[in-house]
Amino acid sequence: MFVKPLNENLRLKYKIAKSRISYNNKTGTYQSGSGTYAEYDQAKENKWKCEKCFNHFATLKKLKLHKIDYHSY
Ligand SMILES: [Zn+2]
Repeated sequence: MFVKPLNENLRLKYKIAKSRISYNNKTGTYQSGSGTYAEYDQAKENKWKCEKCFNHFATLKKLKLHKIDYHSY
C-alpha cells in the first residue's frame, strides 16, 4: 500500500484550504460545496458544477466555456 510522505500530506491540507474543499474527519470524506467525495481529486474535479445540466468541471474557466457553448442564447 502506498503511504504518502508527511510533507505531501501538509501540501494536500494547504490545497484543500485554498480550494475550499474540506476534509471530514468523522466520515473520512472530502466535502466540496454540497458534494461529498471519498478522494480529494474527486472533490476537486467536481468543484465546478453547471446548475443547468449538472455537468462537472475541474476549473471555473472550463465551466464558463461550457456555459457559453451550451447555454448562451
Ligand atoms: Zn451546462
